[in-house]
Amino acid sequence: MKKIGQCCICGAKNVRLSFEHVPPRAAFNDQRVFETNIQKMLTGEWDGKPQPPQGKWLQAGAGKYTLCEKCNNDTGAWYGSAYVAMARRALELVTWSGGTVSLAYPYQIFPLRVLKQVIAMFCSACGPSLQERFPDIPRFVLDRDQRYIPHDLKVFAYLIDPSKSVGNRQAPMSGVLIKGKQHVFAEIAFAPLGFVLTGDTDPIDFSLLNITHFGHSAFYHRETLFLKLPVLQISTWLPGDFRSKDQVARDVASNEVKGRVDLNVF
Ligand SMILES: [Zn+2]
Repeated sequence: MKKIGQCCICGAKNVRLSFEHVPPRAAFNDQRVFETNIQKMLTGEWDGKPQPPQGKWLQAGAGKYTLCEKCNNDTGAWYGSAYVAMARRALELVTWSGGTVSLAYPYQIFPLRVLKQVIAMFCSACGPSLQERFPDIPRFVLDRDQRYIPHDLKVFAYLIDPSKSVGNRQAPMSGVLIKGKQHVFAEIAFAPLGFVLTGDTDPIDFSLLNITHFGHSAFYHRETLFLKLPVLQISTWLPGDFRSKDQVARDVASNEVKGRVDLNVF
């Protein structure tokens, strides 16, 4: 299949795009996954129940035609396996603990590579507007040795309990108003790991672990980091919503308005 468009990392226009798995295929993203149009659900076709009303099965795993071949190949070669190692360790911990990880556990990883893979995934999830709005992001991703996330952006991480979650989700930069407080962030949740990218000082959920410091590491530096990632549930398709299935059912029953979501704020 040929697809022509704009690369979501380098911004090149009218180039042949290749299929980018988000997350990498080897990070458990080789099964068919259910993709649905979150915007449709938010314009009235979704009644708040955990399962979306419509969607399609993607046979190749989650992802889209988002990157030019060079960006896809370079980021895959430099960062892909480091991300896969982190995802495998995360799944081991979630499974082993029965979904109740409460201490900091060691991860032997290449922090900078993991972080750059996550940023590359956000480029795909957000579309070309992310690199347009934050022009130093492509440089950070495409220069494998460059350290420190630019633009004061932060990345937060969490673990997903697959046994209590109904699916995976991705949201571009979205504005979420909850209890009078506005949050602007993008989210990628694909078990066993979830990430939030934001310029806000505080993340939407206080328990999320800030991993922005992964950017202080060097490309060849492998470290043992003790990380206390919270274990959260994915029960709805709303970005940043970590309510349990039971809580969602109670909220739907009580008809309570929780807040407001605007997708694609830029
Ligand atoms: Zn590119």
